[in-house]
Amino acid sequence: MSADAAADLFRSTFDARPDGVWSAPGRVNLIGEHTDYNSGLCLPIALPQRTFAAVRRRDDDLVRVVSAQGDGVVEVTLEDVGAGHPAGWAAYVAGVPWALRRAGHTVGGLDVAVDGRVPLGAGLSSSAALECAVAAGASDLHDLGLLDTASDRAALAAVCVEAENTVAQAPTGGMDQSAALLAEAGRALLLDCRDHGTTQVPFDLSAHDLALLVMDTRAEHALVDGQYAERRESCEQAARELGVTSLREVAVDDLDGQLAALSTDLLRHRARHIVTEIERVRQTVQALRHNDFRTVGDLFVESHASMRDDFEISVAELDTAVEAALAAGALGARMTGGGFGGSAIALVPANRTEAATEAVEAAFAARGFSAPDCFVVTASASAHRDR
Ligand code: ADP
Ligand code: MG
Repeated sequence: MSADAAADLFRSTFDARPDGVWSAPGRVNLIGEHTDYNSGLCLPIALPQRTFAAVRRRDDDLVRVVSAQGDGVVEVTLEDVGAGHPAGWAAYVAGVPWALRRAGHTVGGLDVAVDGRVPLGAGLSSSAALECAVAAGASDLHDLGLLDTASDRAALAAVCVEAENTVAQAPTGGMDQSAALLAEAGRALLLDCRDHGTTQVPFDLSAHDLALLVMDTRAEHALVDGQYAERRESCEQAARELGVTSLREVAVDDLDGQLAALSTDLLRHRARHIVTEIERVRQTVQALRHNDFRTVGDLFVESHASMRDDFEISVAELDTAVEAALAAGALGARMTGGGFGGSAIALVPANRTEAATEAVEAAFAARGFSAPDCFVVTASASAHRDR
């Protein structure tokens, strides 16, 4: 148990017992990529992999943090926390009490020891898992009650987004924190990024002899930040040219007719991905409600092609993982997350997960890519207190 590891690290670092241990999950998005900043829809699940935070409340404003995956102890007073400070991984921790204060809550300092079991930087949202585990502890220890209801949890998610955007200075839309705080076991979380509405959608693959395979490509690509900004700008420009507030407002019927009004082919491709991807999220939800997993698989495949060809955010490793999984019997597969590396997912018959894993590993070896990490995941629980 990684809760034990976090508590042990707390004791050995701070020579005291933590008040408790809290954890929050990583996430994987089933479908709906780059739709969040277009006021669209996405559909993440919480992963079984979690980040654990052993936390003790302090009476002063000091924040002290240590992580099994970090470097040494970082100390900072809340007055000194702000944009880009502290630098590095501790920003994801110290940013949380800072953002809670900014949102008007009365919180003081914390001692925190972290053990994260969400792979770092694999597109599975270790950053939100870290923030949300700390936020859960801060809420309980300062009696904020922000884990009580879905709307409390949504407010806590917004605090974590603020911590990540401002203190860690990472642009992030909010899907990750919502999944970590609002997803439920056995369900996918339909997120409407226009009105922040959430809907729980059944997602229990084992009852249907299916499994979800995550394929972490371990591929690292440069220039990702610039690419993200470029995609965002293209979407905003396309919306402006079409006279709508966001691409969410573009109806999918007669899409080609509307896209003809755009000034360049590039904008047409970018906008077509967003509009069709939002529609695919709707169709995936419908298919899941009817246990129509063939259709879900087909939608995954269409989504991947759209990201590869229209939005141009895939890379050879992601395409290879998707193609190998499909050839090994997956019903569908797609890259997930922001692109340019990270992970892909495949919907696989439960008795084919090993064959699919071997096929992906063999395809990577044949192309000279470093070995991928493939593992089966189930839709798991959101942030909670472990002890
Ligand atoms: P992702 O969220 O997809 O894993 P990010 O780049 O958003 O990728 O976040 C990864 C960063 O979050 C790491 O580089 C590190 O700074 C921080 N982080 C996440 N988990 C931990 C952890 N357990 N200990 C220390 N830092 C962590
Ligand atoms: Mg992240």
